[in-house]
Amino acid sequence: MDKKIKVPEIFGENVFDGRTMQERLPKKIYNELQKTIENGTDLDSHVAEIVAHEMKEWALEKGATHYTHWFQPLTGFTAEKQDAFISPKKNGGVLMEFSGKELIKGESDGSSFPSGGLRSTFEARGYTAWDCTSPAFIHESPTGAVLCIPTVFFSYTGDALDKKTPLLRSMEVLNKEAMRIVRLFGDNDAKKVNVSVGAEQEYFIVSRDAYLKRKDLIFAGRTLFGAPAPKGQELDDHYFGSIKERILAYMSDLNEELWKLGISAKTQHNEVAPAQHELAPIYDVVNVATDHNQLMMETMKKVALRQNLVCLLNEKPFEGVNGSGKHNNWSMTTDTGVNLLDPGKAPHENRRFLLILAAILKAVDEYAPLLREAAANPGNDHRLGANEAPPAIISVFLGEQLEDVLNQLCEKGEATSSKKGSQVDVGVSTVPTFMKDATDRNRTSPFAFTNNKFEFRMVGSSASIADANTVLNTIVADALGQAADMIEAADNKDMAAHDLTKRWISEHIRIVFNGNGYSEEWIEEAARRGLPNINNTVDAHAALSDPKAIALFERHKVMTRNELISREEVGYETYAKVINVEARTMLDMAKKEILPAVIRYTMTVAKSVNEIEAAGAKPHVQKRILDQCQAHLSDMYKALDDLEEVTQKAASMETGRAQAVFYRDEVVRAMEQLRKPADALEMLVDEKEWPFPTYADLMFNV
Ligand code: ADP
Ligand code: MG
Repeated sequence: MDKKIKVPEIFGENVFDGRTMQERLPKKIYNELQKTIENGTDLDSHVAEIVAHEMKEWALEKGATHYTHWFQPLTGFTAEKQDAFISPKKNGGVLMEFSGKELIKGESDGSSFPSGGLRSTFEARGYTAWDCTSPAFIHESPTGAVLCIPTVFFSYTGDALDKKTPLLRSMEVLNKEAMRIVRLFGDNDAKKVNVSVGAEQEYFIVSRDAYLKRKDLIFAGRTLFGAPAPKGQELDDHYFGSIKERILAYMSDLNEELWKLGISAKTQHNEVAPAQHELAPIYDVVNVATDHNQLMMETMKKVALRQNLVCLLNEKPFEGVNGSGKHNNWSMTTDTGVNLLDPGKAPHENRRFLLILAAILKAVDEYAPLLREAAANPGNDHRLGANEAPPAIISVFLGEQLEDVLNQLCEKGEATSSKKGSQVDVGVSTVPTFMKDATDRNRTSPFAFTNNKFEFRMVGSSASIADANTVLNTIVADALGQAADMIEAADNKDMAAHDLTKRWISEHIRIVFNGNGYSEEWIEEAARRGLPNINNTVDAHAALSDPKAIALFERHKVMTRNELISREEVGYETYAKVINVEARTMLDMAKKEILPAVIRYTMTVAKSVNEIEAAGAKPHVQKRILDQCQAHLSDMYKALDDLEEVTQKAASMETGRAQAVFYRDEVVRAMEQLRKPADALEMLVDEKEWPFPTYADLMFNV
């Protein structure tokens, strides 16, 4: 191996981070900017001017010719419009310029971005504004480099048109309310509560040559036809299995790119399904983690292409094996380094922790549909509840130790002990005995407490983590705020906190479930407990216009009614568009590829029937194959007609909920009907005749 990456040297080399700023900016300017970053004070235009100049000089040294305001519209992807630094000189030639104004604010005609009716094309003005809390970075490409400035994106009227604005607002709200609790428990040193997030990212890698032969992968990002390969994930041999060299080479290149961008790519392993892998960075402040996750997804795709591979981020690339998700690890930490979700060695004595835990249970129980909504997209509909991902029902896993503490609180009114992790002895004298955790893990829970953080496991692999964290921050802030109101007003604050903790735990204990989330019994039990089971994206979006949700977001100024309704609209539109593309891709593949291949094959079989008969033998087998093919072919033709009809009807409907419902109920159903005979034919037809690579080719050929 000749490649040696010097990680400490390259880490963050393409980021205008705190270290670079400190090196390059005059001390006073650096301090001013830090004040804005840390305390949210207004940025002085004089400061912006100097920062812009230094940022440009730095970018030019890195070979940048352009800059862009990098933002995250409601498509869930990132967007940019590049501008060259050039400014013509009077007597010919150019200067490379970049002003404070250009750094802080951009204007763009963003009318083609989804806005859910917040803006019509004739009121197209959209603005981008610098989010100085997430560092600028250099995007490298073979043709040059671009300075990317993380920004928020909003309309002329100040409505958020992106995923970042509400997230930033929610961070401020959580900080405010959590700080009240921190103070009430006697901490006078902390000045701020930050949300930390680490997002574990799952993905598939397939060969680019195979990918290019499948229109479904090209257009829909997932297979829409495909009989199962003889082998799937049943042997559990891929999960944590040794990683193939070609994949290791990919991971190595990917890590290098990510490290240059200051993304702390840390853990990599094979996942459950063949060709599936995972990458997790070390957690960071939530808005930076959100930007990093977007960059990570883009870099994953880019690096794969370089190596003649394709990275699939869709939630369900293949039927019959696991799909991909994203585990959103979430915690709250003070600027003095105290993790508010750390139960400590004796959770039963940790009153602050127990109050915060009670507030989180209340928040998740009361606003479960909002969390569910934040994980809703068409791809994820194939995962949630399909025994490979959490069920569509939101519940919280706490584990043995905490559940025991909560039970004591509810039953005895007081928790007096915490179960301890015991020693494990593996029975091999050379392996030391060690202390096991007080609690085992649970893989089936959508919202699991793991050591000192909550892991929200519903988010889809292709989705931005912004929505999930906006919801989490806001609902938890709301509950913490209510707690602070009550405790602040009480004469005996200890007593008030204790009583409130007890009350909220008993009121919301129904959300706690430590058992197997994949079981049928849980679905029934959850229904008895009155927990919502929202099993599809279209129904999930309705949570955004629920009056209780609107009141919540408006109360905290995280989103207005209009912003929420617009997001619901965008949800329906996106759903309809995605299913429409999938349906049209299926029609195209069925008509232009599968049917002709089957017809060719049946011709060959028919000829052989005739010839065998002419030779005086009985073509039993050939006839049976022919009959089976003909039967599936006619089913397929019928299903094709049906899909064509409903897709046309769906596309002609007015956009909105009714259209999305029609796509879900009629078009998706017709797609399933078309897939069945096509997949059956794949199992009958000569594989040399099959028009595109099979599941075996895709999942086992890298
Ligand atoms: P697991 O074993 O569940 O994969 P890890 O400890 O490897 O857990 O963490 C998974 C992700 O959670 C990583 O991105 C990690 O940085 C992040 N993480 C760890 N601790 C915290 C925390 N306190 N707050 C938020 N994220 C965290
Ligand atoms: Mg994990």
